Amino acid sequence: MPEFLYFDHAATTPLDRRVAEAMRPWLGPLYGNPSSLHGFGRQARAAVDAARAQTAALLNAEPGELLFTASGTEADNLALLGVFGTHEPRGHLVVSAFEHAAVLETARALAARGVAVTEVPVGPDGLVDPDDVARALRPDTRLVSIMAANNVVGTLQPLAEIGARVRAHGALFHTDAVQAAGKIPLDVRRLEVDLLSLSAHKFHGPAGVGALFVRQGVSLAPLLFGGGQEKGLRPATENVAGLVGLGRAAELARRGMADDAARLVALRERLRDGLADRVPNVLFVGDPWRRLPGHLALLLDGQEGEAVKLLFDLDEAGVAASTGSACSAGHAGQPSYVLLAMGYDPIRARGLLRLSLGRFTTEAHVDRFLELFPGCARSLRPTVSHLAPSLARNLS
Ligand code: PLP
Repeated sequence: MPEFLYFDHAATTPLDRRVAEAMRPWLGPLYGNPSSLHGFGRQARAAVDAARAQTAALLNAEPGELLFTASGTEADNLALLGVFGTHEPRGHLVVSAFEHAAVLETARALAARGVAVTEVPVGPDGLVDPDDVARALRPDTRLVSIMAANNVVGTLQPLAEIGARVRAHGALFHTDAVQAAGKIPLDVRRLEVDLLSLSAHKFHGPAGVGALFVRQGVSLAPLLFGGGQEKGLRPATENVAGLVGLGRAAELARRGMADDAARLVALRERLRDGLADRVPNVLFVGDPWRRLPGHLALLLDGQEGEAVKLLFDLDEAGVAASTGSACSAGHAGQPSYVLLAMGYDPIRARGLLRLSLGRFTTEAHVDRFLELFPGCARSLRPTVSHLAPSLARNLS
């Protein structure tokens, strides 16, 4: 049986064997509650503290600036709702038009409760212009939230430049770094971010474990009420095994980052060049260089309407890819709001294919994909609206 090709690491990544090993004792013989005063509890508390230090080191943060959450989504919610509070929130929030739903829907929920929200535009290259962010700032702006890397098109945003403008204005700056953390260097001291979200399952850690960096001195309102864990901001008995997994995944990512990134850029370029050679109508989406190391986004010109069919054909051929965000699986075949925000027309915005590579992807995997892909692409029909009207009628 041929090896399955997993090219969907932006959706989630396989657990690194070394992370699983670190977690294993906490799924078996070690089971203390970190709040207990006895030996079991103290051992669990030490494990949580170690995980906090490992995760903080990934960001050059102080361990006391890391709050653990149960997902990247929860970290994003805590950042936005925590700044504005949930009781009659007031003021102004700035987000980009192509944030992940975890930010965009939270912003919309705040708008429904009385917060003024500005969605800044995104360029056709998938980049947010820091000057557009500066122009959106108002005297009552309390928070700006711009993602570090877009999950659909893979582009890296100019965080340092945006952070400097937001800081000069006196507002807080949050970045959803769920796609970027563990893949590119993120130094919270240099970037001037006040809040940063990450999620372990995007860098070979377990799903259901996230963290929010909260710069010392920034105060948030809690969303949950209960015991005093996580400074009372995220009360619940800690998921010790998951946090140990996050810590180990963060450590592995930090130590191997330079090598992993260089290898993934080389693989991505091999994939990109190979596709450009073999598929005449391929169009790459997003800035070619300011992008996540292992992330490629493309369209097949004139065949955009067939992206979902292409995905299933690839699946049948043993390739896992994506038409965009896994969170929008229910909207397969719909125009991507990310591409619409970048100015693509609705036909093109239906046709995105996302190929995302990871730590265990090899040259042989890329080469195998390049052998398979042209056959799948050739079997697609032209998108109806790209044809002459009479021909389109016959096909539809
Ligand atoms: N933000 C971005 C940019 C993401 O890509 C994702 C997941 O796809 C999330 C937030 C949500 O993270 P989680 O799956 O941990 O809730």
